[in-house]
Amino acid sequence: MNRLNALFLSLCLTLGSTGCTQDTHREFKRTILKFGTLIDITLYDVEPALAERALDQLETNFNQYHADWTSWQDSPLMRANEKLALGEPVKVDASIAQLIQRSQVLSQNSHGLFNPSINQLISLWQMHRSDETNIQPPEPQVIQDWLKTKPNMNDLKLDGLTVRSRNPAAQLNFGAFAKGYAIDLSFDYLRILGIHNAVINAGGDLSVRGRHGDRPWKIGIRHPREENTIAWLEAQDGESIVTSGDYERFYIYKGRRYHHILDPRTGYPAEDSTSVTVIHHNAGTADAAATALFVAGPKQWQEIAKSMGIEYVMLIDDKNNIYMSRKMAERVHFSEDQTGHILVSESL
Ligand code: ADP
Ligand code: MG
Repeated sequence: MNRLNALFLSLCLTLGSTGCTQDTHREFKRTILKFGTLIDITLYDVEPALAERALDQLETNFNQYHADWTSWQDSPLMRANEKLALGEPVKVDASIAQLIQRSQVLSQNSHGLFNPSINQLISLWQMHRSDETNIQPPEPQVIQDWLKTKPNMNDLKLDGLTVRSRNPAAQLNFGAFAKGYAIDLSFDYLRILGIHNAVINAGGDLSVRGRHGDRPWKIGIRHPREENTIAWLEAQDGESIVTSGDYERFYIYKGRRYHHILDPRTGYPAEDSTSVTVIHHNAGTADAAATALFVAGPKQWQEIAKSMGIEYVMLIDDKNNIYMSRKMAERVHFSEDQTGHILVSESL
């Protein structure tokens, strides 16, 4: 988050509001608290009335996405999961059908490392309670039993808006994809309104469309183990820059750290990576890919990036090695106190 953004955000928070609009040189801003993060929306070169209408609608939409797509509290998605668990066909609304369809392709291209059908496993790890003190990891036997159920997005078949499952263990959780997908939907909506210059910054995931004043949009990549930024990048028109990190959500149990990005092959939090940053023109794809490449880790990231069509990757591992694709290496600026060993890919 750049300083101007941080300043504006603190102003909004001081005023005690989650929604806040500003009119400076036809620049309009709103901050929404959804998907467990602050979502900053900035529109440029828009008439005030249109900007207000667009921001209101985007806020309504984000509230709706959040209400419809959460898997850990009563929602249409949770009710769909209950039916899938009983082996019954379930009629979903169009937005959930779209989420399924898009993520089936992404899951397949990620060789199952991005797997939104692992909601049961995610529930076992109870990451939505990570702030509580009495939380502990599931027993190894419970994980072993879950592994035998092998849920996969291909277990689900969509027929119009009806979902049928051949595996009752396949239940949906779009935590790794919904935020990016919601950003894509927001830009689609803005385009329909004739708004072509906008930035959406959701918890460090930055998406840019069109022109945005004179200043370039810089995004800092957080050091996974320190409070400062390790590097920064300039976002260009049409890009989404998305980071998945193990510091976002975790708990410590008996001195060990358990984080929220799970390896569907082992049933445990993915090992070796601490942070992955991806750039892609589609925010949903970038979101799914950042998660998949985190799981892929230092040994497999190049293979998975290629099969997902991702050219810009930076992966930091738990030994502070920094792996990058060649294209990413041309874009990243490291801070002066960065001490990690940098390895630029020869094949990507
Ligand atoms: P963040 O939400 O912090 O940006 P991610 O996009 O990587 O991070 O999403 C992590 C969330 O996605 C987890 O909290 C969990 O709900 C879900 N998840 C965890 N592991 C996977 C996985 N391998 N595939 C799909 N979803 C996952
Ligand atoms: Mg993700």
